[in-house]
Amino acid sequence: MALKHPGLALWANRRFSLWLLLLALVVALLGLLVWLAGRYESSLVQSRLDDNAAEAAVDILSGLNRNLQAVQALHVGEPGAQAWEPLARQLLQVRREMLRLEWRDEALGVSGVVETPFQKPVFGQLGRPSLQADVGLACAAARRVSGPAYSVSYFLPQSGGLGMEVIDMCFPLTNAGRLSGYAVATYSLQSLLSELVGKSLAKNVGLSLTEADGTRLALHGAPARASRTFVARQLLDLPGSTMVVRMESRLGTPALFPNVLTALVSALSLALLAVLFLLGRDMRRRLQVEHDLGEALAFRKAMENSLLTGLRARDLQGRITYVNPAFCKMVGVEARELLNQSMPSTYWPPELAGVYQQRQEMRLAGSHLARESHESVFMRRDGTRFAVLIMEAPLINAVGKHTGWMSAILDVSEQRRNEELSRASQDRLQASARLAMVGEMASLLSHELNQPLAAISSYATGSLNLLQQGLAGEPGPGEPALSDDLRLAMRCIAEQAERAGKVIKSVHDFVRRSDRVRESVKPQALLDAIMPLVALQARKLDMRIALELDAACPPVLCDRTMVEQVLLNLARNGMQAMQGSLETGPPPGLALERVLTLRVRPAAAGAQGPWVEFAVSDQGEGISDDVARQLFTPFFTTKKEGMGLGLSLCRTVIEQHGGFFGYDNAWPQGTIFSFTLPAAASSTSGAAAPRVLQES
Ligand code: ADP
Repeated sequence: MALKHPGLALWANRRFSLWLLLLALVVALLGLLVWLAGRYESSLVQSRLDDNAAEAAVDILSGLNRNLQAVQALHVGEPGAQAWEPLARQLLQVRREMLRLEWRDEALGVSGVVETPFQKPVFGQLGRPSLQADVGLACAAARRVSGPAYSVSYFLPQSGGLGMEVIDMCFPLTNAGRLSGYAVATYSLQSLLSELVGKSLAKNVGLSLTEADGTRLALHGAPARASRTFVARQLLDLPGSTMVVRMESRLGTPALFPNVLTALVSALSLALLAVLFLLGRDMRRRLQVEHDLGEALAFRKAMENSLLTGLRARDLQGRITYVNPAFCKMVGVEARELLNQSMPSTYWPPELAGVYQQRQEMRLAGSHLARESHESVFMRRDGTRFAVLIMEAPLINAVGKHTGWMSAILDVSEQRRNEELSRASQDRLQASARLAMVGEMASLLSHELNQPLAAISSYATGSLNLLQQGLAGEPGPGEPALSDDLRLAMRCIAEQAERAGKVIKSVHDFVRRSDRVRESVKPQALLDAIMPLVALQARKLDMRIALELDAACPPVLCDRTMVEQVLLNLARNGMQAMQGSLETGPPPGLALERVLTLRVRPAAAGAQGPWVEFAVSDQGEGISDDVARQLFTPFFTTKKEGMGLGLSLCRTVIEQHGGFFGYDNAWPQGTIFSFTLPAAASSTSGAAAPRVLQES
């Protein structure tokens, strides 16, 4: 069953959108965090690089100054060219960045030259004189400022197609305040970088000297290939020449996590995303459970609403905590009126409220938690009473605690009415069966009544004759007096009339008796009641009735009329069966006389006490398999005037008494129908009494 409530669907949609929004926000926030961390990291790297570039520029400047001092030192005390040269060579051996040292006179004529021992003479290819102009400019500037001056850088081609950028430094030499010459040093820019800075340079950093417009003059160290490059520039301001120190650094892999901070932020972000994912999954599961619960609830509600059984729950104080619609409909009261209602309930009939209240109090006080069912009477709002069957069971909550009582209530008024109707129709059937039997016996009755009536009429005629004789004259001597004869005749008339009356009464009793009371009846009394009618028929059919009554038989608890009818029916069936077999003739070796035996004896004691067994056995034709299959089917009969109701009614009557009804074959022929009835309580009379054989 799908949950179709529109409000719920809307709410589910909104919740989904909220989740989406939250996810988007978290992702945006995390992205921003990672980006900011990356940026912070970049700015750190950049500033470190800027510092390094500035340091490199300072290193170069201080290196150049140191060299300047060393060159100045060579000329202290005005040494001759002979003395200057070894000192200058020594200097070049320790300062590898210097390619050549020159000592020039005031007119820039070369007084002494020393080349670096580390490579071939650098001007070998081009020749120094061709580059005189640059030196001249530098020395002119030096003379002007009375200090060192540098030339602009220029390219010196070398052998093998190579070349290098170099720069000249010119320093004016003075003697007693008068210009005496110049010291010129030629530097390789490449070596400046490698010798003055290179050693302290990190591996992944590239250092270069460029012109102001970005033209690269010299490069030292090459940064590894990477996605991001950081560049720092620092001006290298030399007197007469300005260059830029350019430092380049590349971020190594992984570029996304340049340092711990970014990695940490990223890891936290991932963890947050994972938590978000888990939360989402948990929420989805909850939603599923919620959905399932909703369905289960809707199913339960639908079930409750369609249920015909009333349901009612009560707490331990007897207050109603729940009623279903069927219960409300049953008693005609709204649920809100019933809820929290304590005793006495509105649906209790006032006359029974006291008993109910007592019963409830006992139940609430009792500690046994058995399930129980009992019949009761409830009252509708309009005051009508109706029978209900209540099944009560303890209400145990989820933690196993007894919290009240749950009752299922069935309206059994209809059922009771049907039972009443079926009982009434059963009664009518019994009555009709009785009448049918009486109809059958009508001829017998007329025959039986004929005798006393004929006797009465002949006694009456005799009496009349006597009266006439008496009026005619006195009786002779020795003759009995008229009054004696008349008295005798009248007594005979009275006896015969009484006999006729008894016959009629027995029939009348049998037909009219309709009380349905179960009473304690002695088996003898039952037999006595049916004997006149049975005997009548037996006499007509020329049969004998044998009674075997065990004197130890206790009285039975039964509906007397009905059991009499059962006995009568069985006796009649037996006699009719024997009559049939008489017509076909007895089997060889058997006497012609037919005896119907009525036997009563105690049966094996059952769970509810002792029982009494009644058996009617005949020597008739027996019951064939065909007949046996339909024996108890109403209206089944093999007789011309039969109704076919006898045996089915007999069985119903006995089963209503809780007894057993059945039949068996008799030996050597015939059938024994037997049934049991419960003995009336504690009324077993004289045990082990001898068997009495009665006959009629
Ligand atoms: P009915 O006597 O009106 O036929 P019953 O219900 O009493 O109706 O009997 C049904 C049938 O069972 C009878 O027609 C008969 O064939 C058979 N039956 C009953 N009792 C005996 C018996 N003692 N011996 C043989 N057949 C019997």
